[in-house]
Amino acid sequence: MTEVEPSPVASSWTTAVVREVERFGDTYVKLRLDVANRTPHVPGQHYVVRLRAPDGYTAQRSYSIASDPEDPLVELMVECLPRGEVSSFLHDVVEVGDELEVRGPIGRWFVWGGTTPSLCVAGGSGIVPFVSMLRFARRTGTEPLLRIAASAQTRARLPYIDELEEYGAFIALTRENHVQTNGTERVAAHIYPDEIVPLADGIERAYVCGSVGFVSFVGRILGEAGVRSDTVRVEQFGPTS
Ligand SMILES: Cc1cc2nc3c(=O)[nH]c(=O)nc-3n(C[C@H](O)[C@H](O)[C@H](O)COP(=O)(O)OP(=O)(O)OC[C@H]3O[C@@H](n4cnc5c(N)ncnc54)[C@H](O)[C@@H]3O)c2cc1C
Repeated sequence: MTEVEPSPVASSWTTAVVREVERFGDTYVKLRLDVANRTPHVPGQHYVVRLRAPDGYTAQRSYSIASDPEDPLVELMVECLPRGEVSSFLHDVVEVGDELEVRGPIGRWFVWGGTTPSLCVAGGSGIVPFVSMLRFARRTGTEPLLRIAASAQTRARLPYIDELEEYGAFIALTRENHVQTNGTERVAAHIYPDEIVPLADGIERAYVCGSVGFVSFVGRILGEAGVRSDTVRVEQFGPTS
């Protein structure tokens, strides 16, 4: 398979109509958007969503794309932060039929084009870009090239956990015991370096996505697992600790 490259076309603001909204308690909201004049994305890219108040005040935030490039809709998964300006609006207010201003797809570095053996390590909502990668891998039959490890406090705080389990992703919950796909129960804990070693075997690239604290922790354990730092690509979002 030939590596899929991001389009060099600069993205401009366009309109997205909200076609589906699914709320997961007070933690996450999934939005499926019909984006006008859409440019196909490469897994790992994101959109910027811009909100505009009647007085002209605007706020914009980035959201990774969860959907496969061939999905006719663009899927975003937003973690609702209690005092978060944009995430609270998207979680609490947005309804089917609403229009949002969006710009994208954006990102040329944190992308997976389907040919490089890679390990993705996510913390919480950091899983979103890797869901696009895994859906793309499944459609193109390139699953053997893409391994995924995900960490979250609880099942409820890890979006797409059922899909991740079906894919065979390694899952570490830090505040709940978790029955792995092989039937063994993993006692609540952060990812151990020993758990990363087999996942890192033979990879040429690692992607890490999550909070600042999470990516620095994973950087350390990837190093202990023998992954060269120049092969690691990082995307940080969320709080600073
Ligand atoms: C490239 C990129 C891709 C991203 N993709 C996603 C995505 O797919 N899904 C997603 O939910 N977010 C994603 N984010 C984060 C997103 O852009 C916003 O930062 C997030 O939604 C918070 O915005 P807000 O306006 O709701 O909160 P703000 O009003 O900006 O912040 C409110 C308060 O919450 C704190 N805070 C910010 N983020 C977090 C957090 N995660 N947990 C706890 N406290 C926090 C801030 O420090 C602040 O004190 C991405 C960010 C980047 C840069």
